[in-house]
Amino acid sequence: MNRISLLLLLILTVCFVWAISNLHFGPFNIGVEEVIAKENKNHINSQGIEITVIYDNYLFKPGLKTSWGFSCVVKGTEKMILFDTGGNSSVLLSNMEKLEIDPKKIDLVVLSHIHGDHIGGLDDFLEQNAEVDVYLPQAFPRNFKEKVRNYGAKIFEVQENTKICENTYSTGVLGMGIKEQTLIVRTEQGIIVITGCAHPGIVNIVKKAKDLLKEDVLLVMGGFHLMGQSQGSIEKIISQFRNLGVHFVGPCHCSGDTTRQLFQREYDENYINIGVGKVIYYNELSE
Ligand SMILES: [Zn+2]
Ligand SMILES: [Zn+2]
Repeated sequence: MNRISLLLLLILTVCFVWAISNLHFGPFNIGVEEVIAKENKNHINSQGIEITVIYDNYLFKPGLKTSWGFSCVVKGTEKMILFDTGGNSSVLLSNMEKLEIDPKKIDLVVLSHIHGDHIGGLDDFLEQNAEVDVYLPQAFPRNFKEKVRNYGAKIFEVQENTKICENTYSTGVLGMGIKEQTLIVRTEQGIIVITGCAHPGIVNIVKKAKDLLKEDVLLVMGGFHLMGQSQGSIEKIISQFRNLGVHFVGPCHCSGDTTRQLFQREYDENYINIGVGKVIYYNELSE
């Protein structure tokens, strides 16, 4: 084979590989969101879903400890999920014990983002139960992932939106600065959106979750990251929530007192006062 035919062969190979990769990845990327929207709509049984707040800087039930950070446990979904772990493991584990949530019963851990007030309780939790799948943003440092693996836990690195278990999804990692994923639970009445700190913007996150699942938004809860915002900008966000058709709201953690007051005034009976020890029962979420 002379040099020219070798060059031709090389060019043909490059073209072939390029064509194949486009054929494969183009439609695949578009397909993910469509698959989520269509999936298993007839098989939802949401009756047993309950969300217990086990770590927050606001108190709901006396006798529990508060500290800066957020964590909650989702039951009644296919797997029992620990979403974030707060900032301090002794607070986390003591609240879990008082709320009669056995760490060994947790199947899945979802970490929203790398900040200490959301991942601080992880080590001691894994000491109690390392037989869990841990969903974390791909951008987490390598040594963090290594440490989690060394406990024996299995890691799932999230970048795009993804299914976590039946009717439970991650928005995928959002945000230009701090990378953060949000948990979505699909119910018979629409989706429940649970945020950690909402660094990518609470409205962006809710829009993304709604686009992804093509469903009504039943509840948005967690940190809304609106501390120190003016009354005007919070009111704008509240009206965007109304436009998005959000039925119930539960701002806590980094949402700020003013945000909580303004949401409560607007949402009235559909405002959920969240703090450590609050349990949100699916059956109570109807108008
Ligand atoms: Zn944060
Ligand atoms: Zn936070």
